[in-house]
Amino acid sequence: MSHIVELRSDTFTLPTTRMLEAAGRARLGDDVYGEDPTVADLEQLAAKLLGKPAACLMPSGTMANLTALLTHSPRGGKAIVGAESDIYVYEAGGASVFGGIVYEPVPAAADGILPLNVVAEACEVDADDPQFALPAVLSVETPHNRRGGIPLPLDYLAEAAALARRYGIAFHLDGARIFNAALALGVSAADIAAHADTVQFCLSKGLSAPIGSILAGDEVSIGTARRYRKMLGGGMRQAGLIAACGIVALTEMLDRLADDHAHAARLASGLASVDGLLLDPEPPHTNMVFFSVDTERTAHTTASLLAGADERGVRLAELGRDRIRAVTHSGVTADDVDRAVEVLKEVLAAAPRAAR
Ligand SMILES: *Cc1c(COP(=O)(O)O)cnc(C)c1O
Repeated sequence: MSHIVELRSDTFTLPTTRMLEAAGRARLGDDVYGEDPTVADLEQLAAKLLGKPAACLMPSGTMANLTALLTHSPRGGKAIVGAESDIYVYEAGGASVFGGIVYEPVPAAADGILPLNVVAEACEVDADDPQFALPAVLSVETPHNRRGGIPLPLDYLAEAAALARRYGIAFHLDGARIFNAALALGVSAADIAAHADTVQFCLSKGLSAPIGSILAGDEVSIGTARRYRKMLGGGMRQAGLIAACGIVALTEMLDRLADDHAHAARLASGLASVDGLLLDPEPPHTNMVFFSVDTERTAHTTASLLAGADERGVRLAELGRDRIRAVTHSGVTADDVDRAVEVLKEVLAAAPRAAR
């Protein structure tokens, strides 16, 4: 069979040959002692790209977010997060388990925005009344994964930051795909990061590094974050091996994200004409396309469509109930996108297999 078209996630990206070469040549040391020069180089480069004084290499985005919340909130403090955010939905409640932090989920609008009047209500707590958990940190996500991969506008980030300042709480940004957001908005990642106290982004998604995320912020926050990283078991010894890949990601893989966005747009326009699918009305802003099965026009279900596509070598993910997500990335070409559209047409043209 021809090769698999992997559209489930940009986390399936494999390291490039240049990354593997760089890892093989990397100067290494014990990073728990702060002596891995390649990690130091990556952290400096990442801090510079985000316009922050300091940055810290993390094993994953999950640990970067958890570390940020631990850094910003005492036990019993409140983290105001999006109800559809990765932090709240996909990170196993780590901040409550390990930090005794209370999540206050705020529903996100269709474009990923947490309405600031609702956020303000969550902040308005009488600090003298011992009944209430005190708000400590606001976290927002850009682009918002479960909200179409839509980036938050800069003026919204500025208002959210001002609100956080007004209530004396920290502002964390889960910018797992911040460079996709920057590209979509036509700004730099630093322009986005400027509004937040701490920012996390993933090297391991569209940027195609095998492992790693960055947490960036001021020196004091990142110093505290390094202690929590060690506490959580994220102190890594010769981490220059993965940092070398991260450096290639940040020096060679940023410009090509435009291809992923173009491929997502191509996929959306291809799918728009497929009878039996309902495409999200908002055209893709970044590298994600969302659609669902139009059960009025086909006997297929989400499960039968995904299974049929999988049998024909096209992998898609269900993200949220009956919502299908396709993510473009460095392992997906324009031909792959066209093939995916053809395959979905083929599956829909055939009767669904009886559910097992
Ligand atoms: C992937 C992702 C994370 C978590 O990153 P991992 O490296 O998978 O732990 C956090 N936030 C968002 C928005 C993500 O997409």
